[in-house]
Amino acid sequence: MELYPLDYQIWLGRIIRERLAVLLQRGAVEHAAQLQDALARLHRSDFGECISCGGVIPYLRITADPAARHCGACLTRDRR
Ligand SMILES: [Zn+2]
Repeated sequence: MELYPLDYQIWLGRIIRERLAVLLQRGAVEHAAQLQDALARLHRSDFGECISCGGVIPYLRITADPAARHCGACLTRDRR
């Protein structure tokens, strides 16, 4: 069972591809590789699952950074 509805996955996939094109144009290879990885994981059931706590990464965060692997709480905690 996916963590986000299919409509959202398709929409996010489009956003990722748009951003990828821009990044590749700018030569931002490293960030582009992260987005390519996110695109490959997009339709997997664990896409959007925080790798620290197993919680769902909120829409706002995964939309802002589809390559995110942590929820906001874990990111904040790990940075301390
Ligand atoms: Zn977490």
